[in-house]
Amino acid sequence: KVRVRFAPSPTGPLHLGGVRTALYDYLFAKNQGGEFVLRIEDTDTARYVEGAEDYIEEALEWCGIIPDESPKKGGKFAPYRQSERRDIYDRYTEQILKTDYAYLAFDTPEELDAIRAEFEAKGDVFSYDNITRNRLKNSIALSEEEVQKLLNEKTPYVVRFKMPVDRTLNLEDIIRGKSSVNTNTLDDKVLVKNDGMPTYHFANIIDDHEMEITHVIRGEEWLPSLGLHTLLYEAMGWKAPEFAHLSLILKPDVSTLINKDNIDSITKSFTEEFVMKNNEFTFDESAPIIKSFFSEVKSPRFKSMLTENDNDNSLTASVKQFLKKGLSGKLSKRDGDKFGFPVFPLDFKDPATGNISKGYRENGYLPEAFINMVALLGWSPSHDKEVLSLDEMAKEFDLNKVHKAGARFSKEKSEWFNHQYIQLKSDGELLHILKNTELNLSGISDEKLLKIIHLMKERATFPKDIYESGTFFFEAPVSYEEKASKKAWNDETSAILSELATTLNGIENFDAETLKQEVHDFAENKGLGMGKVMMPLRLSLVGELKGPDVPDILELIGKEESISRINRAIN
Ligand code: GLU
Repeated sequence: KVRVRFAPSPTGPLHLGGVRTALYDYLFAKNQGGEFVLRIEDTDTARYVEGAEDYIEEALEWCGIIPDESPKKGGKFAPYRQSERRDIYDRYTEQILKTDYAYLAFDTPEELDAIRAEFEAKGDVFSYDNITRNRLKNSIALSEEEVQKLLNEKTPYVVRFKMPVDRTLNLEDIIRGKSSVNTNTLDDKVLVKNDGMPTYHFANIIDDHEMEITHVIRGEEWLPSLGLHTLLYEAMGWKAPEFAHLSLILKPDVSTLINKDNIDSITKSFTEEFVMKNNEFTFDESAPIIKSFFSEVKSPRFKSMLTENDNDNSLTASVKQFLKKGLSGKLSKRDGDKFGFPVFPLDFKDPATGNISKGYRENGYLPEAFINMVALLGWSPSHDKEVLSLDEMAKEFDLNKVHKAGARFSKEKSEWFNHQYIQLKSDGELLHILKNTELNLSGISDEKLLKIIHLMKERATFPKDIYESGTFFFEAPVSYEEKASKKAWNDETSAILSELATTLNGIENFDAETLKQEVHDFAENKGLGMGKVMMPLRLSLVGELKGPDVPDILELIGKEESISRINRAIN
């Protein structure tokens, strides 16, 4: 039976990439009639963020990605939080230490730092591996007595993986196909830390084995660990699951998001991340800058822009110029704030800083639209229908159709999906949604709201647009758009509208259908084109030349208000 897991670390809010991994896990499991497990990988206490686990669970629930087994729900292989599985890991630590695949290492962080510095001084990079391990403080380099002495003295130690020498590993990935890696390029990763807790690598393979996971679907950033993981399965004498590594989600075409209102703040946030040193353009290494931007910025194209301008102001100018041309590379968690779209499913308040990261939910996205958009970032069904429910996607999902290349995020596309899903909602459902927004609708009857929804949803990207672009239903225009006035109004208009008001006043059944006929007859009798009547009428009612059909507007605002608006316009 197919069993798939999503195994996030609670180090912050789930982002777009995480949601996509969870979604593909879920879709694949459902497609195969299998099970989807949520496991929380919280062995790294230093990176633990309060509230992140709850956030992950709430976000998945909002998306409709419901696990069959999870920390809250429990299941056959509980507990599903790694911090609660210590006794299991202890058992397997003992097991791997009995093999030739692991050893104890007593080097202190200070000692390791010193060696690293030594290497750096020679222009080398230190790596704890089959070459260096023989002269470090571990159970391979030291004699049995020395090791025993250190243990008796209760010297803290870690357990390291003993990477085999010069073996070529043939790796297989469902999405990427075959690849190979030589073990000489890999280092002796820590498996168990000095507090006895396993690291990600060790806990991860133990749990995937224990929980009978058949397929590991995860982000591309874990591909470099595949060699180690494969060897860990071998070391433990276990069959490895199948692997599928998902490509990156790429930045949107940034140039489409930059406009005169946000260019300065965007430029500022990028400029703050790098500094000029001795006329050389470098990054402040402490700044959490995205690698891709780093390499882009080091590109000859950008450098030449910089050398032409060497003071701070023109640095900003260069960045502006650069940004306009667009960026490439991985979508980072900070891009959302920079470019004005959410990268998280729900709002997340960072407990350390109090900063709020914007979420799709709070910004008016429907969960169905959100996951549909996310699903198509890197997968396409075999037909060209794009609007698909979770069940439809599960029916068609195929890991072999997941793209190898990175998928470019698009803000416009996510808005397009939201618009589509608003059209699929009934007026009643939209009423319910609108009432759950921050809009204050207390003074408006449901009946009126339903009519407005019916007329306005066609134009809405977000639920609140229905109300906000329909304020003319509640208030007479205070001004008339200039361009529209020029177009709609001439010397005869006042007289025409005045007569029309009289006609309207005489209409008994003030409904859209009757009104449509009456306005039509009015224009015909006067020998006027429809535009000569409809345009100024619309302008009087709305203040501009947009909105739903004029007879619908007339009906909704009623006879008295319609006539009063016409009279205001002609005076
Ligand atoms: N805990 C890892 C993460 O946060 C899971 C990686 C995996 O799926 O193996 O991404």
